[in-house]
Amino acid sequence: MSLVIFLPITKKSRIVICNKEQELVRCLHGKRVLEEGLVHAATITATDPDRLSVHVEWKEGGSIKAKEISFTDVITVNPNLLEAVQGPPTAKENMPPQRNMASKSQRRSTISRIPAFKEVSLQSSAAESGAQTALRGHSTRMTAIPETRLADQAMEVTPQPPMQPNPAPSAGIRTRSTKLSSISEHRLLSRVADTTDSTSDVKSSQASRRKSNIVKEMEKMKSKREEKRAQNTELRTKRDQDNDTSAPNWEFGKMIKEYRATLDCHGISMNDQADEHRICVCVRKRPLNKQELAKKEIDIISIPSKSVVLVHEPKQKVDLTKYLEHQAFRFDYSFDENTSNDVVYRFTARPLVQSIFEGGKATCFAYGQTGSGKTHTMGGDFLGKNQNVSSGIYAFASRDVFLLLSQPRYQDLDLEVFVTFFEIYNGKVFDLLNKKAKLRVLEDAKQQVQVVGLVEKEVTCAEDVFKMIEVGSSCRTSGQTFANSCSSRSHACLQIILRRRGRLHGKFSLVDLAGNERGADTASADRITRMEGAEINRSLLALKECIRALGQNKAHTPFRESKLTQILRDSFIGENSRTCMIAMLSPGYNSCEYTLNTLRYADRVKELSPHNAESDDNQQMETENGEESGSSLEDLELDNVLLKDEELSSHMNSFQDAMSRIGELEEKMVEELRDMVQKGPAWTRLLEMTDQPDYDLESFMTQAEHHCQESSRTFIAITEILASLRSAMQTEEQASQQICKKRRANK
Ligand code: ADP
Ligand code: MG
Repeated sequence: MSLVIFLPITKKSRIVICNKEQELVRCLHGKRVLEEGLVHAATITATDPDRLSVHVEWKEGGSIKAKEISFTDVITVNPNLLEAVQGPPTAKENMPPQRNMASKSQRRSTISRIPAFKEVSLQSSAAESGAQTALRGHSTRMTAIPETRLADQAMEVTPQPPMQPNPAPSAGIRTRSTKLSSISEHRLLSRVADTTDSTSDVKSSQASRRKSNIVKEMEKMKSKREEKRAQNTELRTKRDQDNDTSAPNWEFGKMIKEYRATLDCHGISMNDQADEHRICVCVRKRPLNKQELAKKEIDIISIPSKSVVLVHEPKQKVDLTKYLEHQAFRFDYSFDENTSNDVVYRFTARPLVQSIFEGGKATCFAYGQTGSGKTHTMGGDFLGKNQNVSSGIYAFASRDVFLLLSQPRYQDLDLEVFVTFFEIYNGKVFDLLNKKAKLRVLEDAKQQVQVVGLVEKEVTCAEDVFKMIEVGSSCRTSGQTFANSCSSRSHACLQIILRRRGRLHGKFSLVDLAGNERGADTASADRITRMEGAEINRSLLALKECIRALGQNKAHTPFRESKLTQILRDSFIGENSRTCMIAMLSPGYNSCEYTLNTLRYADRVKELSPHNAESDDNQQMETENGEESGSSLEDLELDNVLLKDEELSSHMNSFQDAMSRIGELEEKMVEELRDMVQKGPAWTRLLEMTDQPDYDLESFMTQAEHHCQESSRTFIAITEILASLRSAMQTEEQASQQICKKRRANK
């Protein structure tokens, strides 16, 4: 169908559209419009569904002019178009319109009800009718007249159905709020293009159904409008935030945003394939948390693909020019802030569950600074202070264990499932399933490590495991002022053990590691903190070396370097051992140093070049690590620049040596003491002997001499240990002071 549009053009060439055909006619007859400006009959020559507009052309001064008009404008001011699409109005709407002055509120209202064009024409004067007849060749019309004057004129003739709860928009006025949603526009546009005149009797028979269609359509439009408004507000807020110059480091934020705009990011999805890795190293970035958002911290990490992570490190030149250094790392997988725990599980721990059914050993570590998401990933997400234990890797692994157990291929194995849950704090082991009982770690002649008395609970379903996780987690944090103060200083290990007629079949150890920033505690003024820090340093370095040794099939694995690696020794050795490390990243600006430190560490565990994505994992490790790397402090030290200082480096080494020595001596002393206490009853027995009237003095003396020799050996040993401990502690203290001094001087 074609439309006829009258376009009055003011001197400023503004096109104003009025929706009253009869008004147009009146104006034409009164020549008022013509006196004001130009009124042209314009024809729609094309519709553009993509741009939701129509193209109109008209003749002016002998030439053809054209203009594009949005369909919103067309439909807003010519609601009869909608009517033409959807049928005539209901009986109520068919009531004769009143030529009332529309109220202000009516004028402001949006097009929740559209007055029917045809009814308006019924009220037109004879002259108007004549004019309409002249225009009848066109099925629908639209009037455009100069804005200010015609708005008023149109008002005078606005037909307003009486007692409408939702008054129709005032005719002739296109309020800014009367935009149609684009989807509705689109639909209408195509429908208008298809519409032809329908007969009036068909229309009247379907009137009520159409009415309800109109209402529905209007409601849809309304909700779309509201949705759009909400989106706009959100966009505006985001834009304001982006340009919020009050935010600290906003310039860096802007640079990062610009950089990100050049990236084509493709995150990992459930549909991606999980590859088999003997050693799998991944990173997971968490979203900015509430505190970081409140501080308007900028996010300095991008995950452009499923294996690459970029750190946009903020830098400043000497002339104070700010710039970014983009550092790229590659891992087996990188998970962005939108990745859920179950996706992380699918690519990390899940492939390992199968391996323990095949008789293998597996370990999975969550590594990173405190607050980066280790416990969230392993233990489950937090709902306030409560942890949802069924949503972490522990729980997903447990579910899969029982799923596999019920499969025919494993049913015949007669496997039983047990769990242990313990914590390693400052080189000591505490049983989380037995009221934090302190446990001894013993190594037999065959280097088999045993955690004496560790409780192994049998479980028969995943829910049993969830209960154990709950018990263990609450035990872990009980008696602590701050939940994190304990967990950030200790490694928590949940083991799922498969036994076949009592014999070990497979074992999966899932470890929530101590916060790696604790390594920096070595400079603390407090000895206990320093010792914790040193122990964490030692265990994290040993862990890295053990995984590297596993990857390179080395005969020697430095598992004795720390309690953590000593206990997990049997999981690292053997053909059928697999491991996975997930390095957690806090994305905020203030965590930049720690984030880089975490990435460097994870990168050392399995060095995958960001520039060589195709290379084979193991080959890469062998060629790049031809030389023995050793346990380098650089892998943990926050400020590598400072470590280049030789003097500082040597203090750090003597500090670490002293700390290791202290740890060893302390353990020795505890063993001697235990020995002495065990000998206690022997002295009691000797005393009881003398109570007998006819005791054998000769025998008493022989026994007493023997106990004296034994005890004096223990006394001498303890005295020597105490002396060595004192000396080691002095060395440690001096080294720590030197480190502090040096660091202060270097800053
Ligand atoms: P960590 O164990 O490394 O100290 P947590 O797991 O306790 O850190 O996480 C610190 C906070 O961050 C918690 O409130 C946690 O809910 C939240 N968090 C961590 N990772 C995520 C994530 N991927 N998505 C949403 N929130 C997270
Ligand atoms: Mg934690």
